[in-house]
Amino acid sequence: MKYFSADHIYAKGELLENHAMLVDESGTIVAIGPGETLGGDTTDTVDEMYVYPGCVLLPGCINSHVHSFQVYLRGRSESSLHFQDWVTSHLYPLILSLDATSLHSAALLAYHEMILSGTTTVGEFHYVHHVPGCERGSGAHQMVQAAEALGLRIVLLRALYDRGTHPAQSRFHESPSEAIQRLEDLHAQYADHPLVSIRPAPHSLHGASGEMIEAAADFSRRHKVPMHIHLAEQESDIEYAHKHYGCGPLTALQKLGGLHEHTVLVHGCWLDQSERELLAETGGGLAYNPLTNMALGDGVTEIPDLIQRGVPISLGTDANIRLSIYDEARAVEYIQRITRKKMGILSPESREGHRLLDMATLQGGRNLGIPCGSLEVGQQADIVVLDTSDPSLQPGALEAGEALLSQIIFSMVPQTAIQHAFVGGQQILRHRTPTLFSRQELHQLILSTHPRYNSH
Ligand SMILES: [Zn+2]
Repeated sequence: MKYFSADHIYAKGELLENHAMLVDESGTIVAIGPGETLGGDTTDTVDEMYVYPGCVLLPGCINSHVHSFQVYLRGRSESSLHFQDWVTSHLYPLILSLDATSLHSAALLAYHEMILSGTTTVGEFHYVHHVPGCERGSGAHQMVQAAEALGLRIVLLRALYDRGTHPAQSRFHESPSEAIQRLEDLHAQYADHPLVSIRPAPHSLHGASGEMIEAAADFSRRHKVPMHIHLAEQESDIEYAHKHYGCGPLTALQKLGGLHEHTVLVHGCWLDQSERELLAETGGGLAYNPLTNMALGDGVTEIPDLIQRGVPISLGTDANIRLSIYDEARAVEYIQRITRKKMGILSPESREGHRLLDMATLQGGRNLGIPCGSLEVGQQADIVVLDTSDPSLQPGALEAGEALLSQIIFSMVPQTAIQHAFVGGQQILRHRTPTLFSRQELHQLILSTHPRYNSH
């Protein structure tokens, strides 16, 4: 048994003072209570003590949507003129230059940075299945192995993709039967792994045929796991849906049998009111990536309306300009402020800290279908430890409560404030240093493996 205590623990929407947690061998939280009670009862059974005076324990962030290999676009693609230019001039040339080693290194680079900024689970939406250096269709293993090397929890959202004629897209293509077989194999292979989960992810309406979407939805229903799909990201996705399916994108997904309570849409920037209503009625969720939507000129998702309708909204970093979920959480509010030229959009009654923090944590667990994202009994002990003396948390940390939660989202510099992180009770960050993989090792690896593509 492991014992964790700190000045405050954020649990079920409250900052509990001088509380402690007990975590069993499987990494599950088995008790939370006042520190002295919990410590006194269990002195004999506690093997390890983690006591953090002057600190706050929070659930680790959950990054519910990312394509890690896109870290290689950093420094290269900002001159793109629009989304399609970004895809054809940078994204596709990069994909054609990837091999198994560079795919693996990209994931290490991305995950390393995620850990430093307080993420304990990555939802890796992976679609580059065929790369030189590994067996056809098995690119996903590179991502899983990178997460394992760092101790990060991973939900591998394995994409299904069978449309498009660009040479780069041949790296994604497989038939529906091949895709489902590989998905079943992966799912079976990691069924008992404590830190790895596999989910189906038909890429999008333009990337996956009706047959592919139907097969993925069937997998999702049979295994009772979430299914993720990019939908209504660019305005042109509306035209595409009308041209090919004679209706809006979400209605098209519904017609194809791909909309149910396990469906999680990625983006949803161009859902109209009737489609937002449909999403809420069906019980589906949204994986939202505000900084990517801004970076790629996608559009603004109607988040306040979706919240009001009760749609669970989690956060992702998607195209990897930066990899901090706290940055995304702040952007959720700011993008609404500039759009509406008002303030306090998601923060009625000054509880913005709670709402945005829950998107960064709790809702990620829901949308990925894992028992993580909240520090409560029965959940996994995925924890970050904040040092409240960090300058970026002053003076809110002195007042605790709402002021501290607000500062965590709006002013904290996670890379200096977050001292330690645990996944399933195992320490993966100690004094701001990943425990399993060194920065020097990472630097050497990136130097020797990063692909040099020519933009078109
Ligand atoms: Zn994406």
